[in-house]
Amino acid sequence: MADNPQLQAQLAAIEARFRQRLDDELDTLNDLCAQLHDDPSALRSLRDRLHKLAGSAGTFGYGELGRVARQLEQQAQTQLDAKQPDAAVLTDLSSAGAQLRPLLKRDEQRQAQPQQLDAGISDEDRHRHVGLLIEEDDLASQMTQTLDSFGYQVTRLASPEALHTAAQLDALIIDTSPPGSRLLSHPVFQQAPGQLPPLLIISSLDTFSSRLQAVRAGAVGFFTKPVDLPLLERRLERGFSSQQGGPFRVLIVDDDTELTARYQLVLSNAGIRVDTVSDANLLLDKMHKFIPEVVLMDLNMPEYSGPELAQVIRLDDDWLRVPIVYLSAETNAERQMSALLKAGDDFITKPISDSTLLTTVYARAQRARMVSDALARDSLTGLLKHADIKEQLELEAERAKRSHAPVSVAMIDIDHFKNVNDSYGHACGDNVIRALSNMLRQRLRKVDRLGRYGGEEFVAVLPGCNSDDAYQLLESIREAFNALQFSSGGQQFHCSFSAGISACEADAWADEELLERADRALYRAKQSGRNRLCRDDGVPD
Ligand code: GH3
Ligand code: MG
Ligand code: MG
Repeated sequence: MADNPQLQAQLAAIEARFRQRLDDELDTLNDLCAQLHDDPSALRSLRDRLHKLAGSAGTFGYGELGRVARQLEQQAQTQLDAKQPDAAVLTDLSSAGAQLRPLLKRDEQRQAQPQQLDAGISDEDRHRHVGLLIEEDDLASQMTQTLDSFGYQVTRLASPEALHTAAQLDALIIDTSPPGSRLLSHPVFQQAPGQLPPLLIISSLDTFSSRLQAVRAGAVGFFTKPVDLPLLERRLERGFSSQQGGPFRVLIVDDDTELTARYQLVLSNAGIRVDTVSDANLLLDKMHKFIPEVVLMDLNMPEYSGPELAQVIRLDDDWLRVPIVYLSAETNAERQMSALLKAGDDFITKPISDSTLLTTVYARAQRARMVSDALARDSLTGLLKHADIKEQLELEAERAKRSHAPVSVAMIDIDHFKNVNDSYGHACGDNVIRALSNMLRQRLRKVDRLGRYGGEEFVAVLPGCNSDDAYQLLESIREAFNALQFSSGGQQFHCSFSAGISACEADAWADEELLERADRALYRAKQSGRNRLCRDDGVPD
């Protein structure tokens, strides 16, 4: 990041603006100090200005200035709280302005090096390499095969020591179920957190103590035998996909423009999308347009308080899941608590270092996305639910219209699925549904949206695909699914699906019509013999 000249130039420009503001601010403080004995309202203004200065100076490297401003702010507060103002303290405070200016110079000299942002969290695409520490050959080969088909690179390790020499792993799956297994007490697993890749632990015991042992070893996933492989794969996927669905979106609500600009730079540099609101009247409008995953909220703004705005946000059910984090120069624990009681989830105390800002925002955004994701997904398949895939379709159709790009929709339905349930049982039917959903997920691109529309019916939204692209893609999936061999109670069988495809080449159709057309095409595919695709242009393929 330090090597990015453009970023450094932006940072320098924000800093220069802040420096200019400091100069003006110190003049204003001086004036206020001079009025303290004559004008009773001057003390309150002085307190407010010192509060703001204490919150912002440190972030820009004026640490000493910020600290002394905080002390003076507290003195001013004590005076305001006192019934009888203390003349001696007032006299002390009147020299505040004069005390601060030399500190500004001192801090400046200390900043011999130009300021640089802390290293950001890289959002580069991860290489998915999974290690297995599994003694049982059957389980190891079954897992290798499944994960391999999902596109992971899998390495089976012979022993914990092999971890030292193995290539960089993105996750490690450990089977602790063999009787007497002491794998987790191996010294390799006693390392400090962060030294090991994320661990997924398989155990034969589903007890509190086995789970606790797993957590103590640093596990992020826990599975009991027989291992539900699609579930395990989903957990792995979740670990890798914190950035899936695009960069995190963070909204900053603060009236301090330089501070906001700096936060924005730090966060966007780490791949986070940031929008800002300085006029609270525009807050709700901005929320609806930007759909933030985290709101960073200044605690004290001239006309509104942070908790007031947080409560306004919380009045709307749409935003219940969005964490609100106060950015505040407030260090008083009681006042922090009372703000949190009104609304809001967390505090970051100003001055805020780049890394504190980043870690807090990242942790909150990751959690928020995980929760909304879990709520939007179907438990059997991990795909989007009916309402959510419809919403995604609307979004993609809108986007396609705006950019005059094509978008296709496929409606997919497993053929004679009732027979599968009747002949092999409901649980076996469930496996078929999962197999198809996994295959679709694996074959579709990251930008595609996939949902379970109904029992054995799926909807795929394919942005950028015209009818021919969609047809080819679905045709290859149809063949692969039809070739899959299922087994149940020693019997082997195959399944097939039919699909209807509709496309929107320009902005010719409304999006509901896309879905209706796909549905009509699906009906034709069923009518004309199943295990085939039909398109909405009426030409049977
Ligand atoms: P067609 O080829 O015309 O689509 O025939 P079909 O039998 O697949 O279609 P139908 O809509 O008549 O039956 C779908 C069946 O899917 C009925 C329902 O019991 C079953 N089903 C729906 N959801 C689930 C599920 O989650 N698990 C299982 N195992 N079965 C399900
Ligand atoms: Mg069906
Ligand atoms: Mg059906």
